[in-house]
Amino acid sequence: MAHDLERIKERISLLEYLQRHNWRPCRAGTRQEFVGLCPLHHETRPSFYVNPQKNLFYCHGCGRGGDLIRFVQLFLDLPFRQSVAHLEQELRPAPASELLAQTVTFYQLQLHRHPEGIRYLERRGLNDPAIIEELGIGYAPGGNLRGHLAGLGYPFDLLLDTGLINSQGRDAFCRRVIFPCSQRGRIVNLYGRSIGGAFPHRLLPRSKGGLFAWESVSSFSMVILVEGLFDLAVLWQAGFRNTTCAIGTQLTPAQLAQLADQPGRSIHIAFDQDENQAGQKASYQLALRLKSAGIQARIVQLPHGHDPNSYFIAGATAADFTDGRARLGGWLRAIAKGRAESAYRR
Ligand SMILES: [Zn+2]
Repeated sequence: MAHDLERIKERISLLEYLQRHNWRPCRAGTRQEFVGLCPLHHETRPSFYVNPQKNLFYCHGCGRGGDLIRFVQLFLDLPFRQSVAHLEQELRPAPASELLAQTVTFYQLQLHRHPEGIRYLERRGLNDPAIIEELGIGYAPGGNLRGHLAGLGYPFDLLLDTGLINSQGRDAFCRRVIFPCSQRGRIVNLYGRSIGGAFPHRLLPRSKGGLFAWESVSSFSMVILVEGLFDLAVLWQAGFRNTTCAIGTQLTPAQLAQLADQPGRSIHIAFDQDENQAGQKASYQLALRLKSAGIQARIVQLPHGHDPNSYFIAGATAADFTDGRARLGGWLRAIAKGRAESAYRR
């Protein structure tokens, strides 16, 4: 027991615990002590002293003091053993989804503080604040995630293991627009699109999860499958809420199973038209796989060098995409540079 208690105190200091629970020192006192308002009684003048070296506190207002466990007993009004259990609970690594949710909230806030993030979204044709909010899009300016998460009590090693920061403590997603990838209401990964010269795409080193927004898209009998999240975002913005994304052209078995989870669904594959034909080949192979699974699949043929996102930027509107061909399932025509070429081939 004594050993366990020492271990707890080693892994979580009194000051760290206090800060996790929103205690903020007003000033440093003498001899490297911190002084703030007492969390144990109401006061207006700070009389709560913390000595981080000795890991002890003392309040001159209410006369109480002691170590971390004593503080927890008083703060939560718990007996000794339950206070120890509470601290052990606190030390368990938080579920990754909780950590990712905190990260996403933080990056969403940064998007509104850093005009370069918004400017990038505008450049990619995304300007509807409601869609930006709904997709949970954020921006990582770099350099400040670690401090924020440490303030919430997340240890450095956990952030490193999750891949959110590098070994220097810097944001792994520095200068990237962030999309959270969720599954059944829990964030399972983050996708970061570089706005500068770094490699364009980045995911955390963990599963990318199922198809994007599948909970809402799966109810449609006609589904548009795109390669990238910016394709999805501009299509959603134009009203095509039946668009999902696999983040890349290689679907995982779980994602394939999702596409096939309802009989009679038709899938319109709208991958990028790449110079090296990679998107076209992937579309064709996927269409074959879907057909062999009994799913109707069509390939949306965009003009050379385009993806759905670049199409919208080139001036296409929702009407252009549906014009005259709605009976075939919604999205069917896109505007080429000359605004004449049909972009759709069955
Ligand atoms: Zn007090």
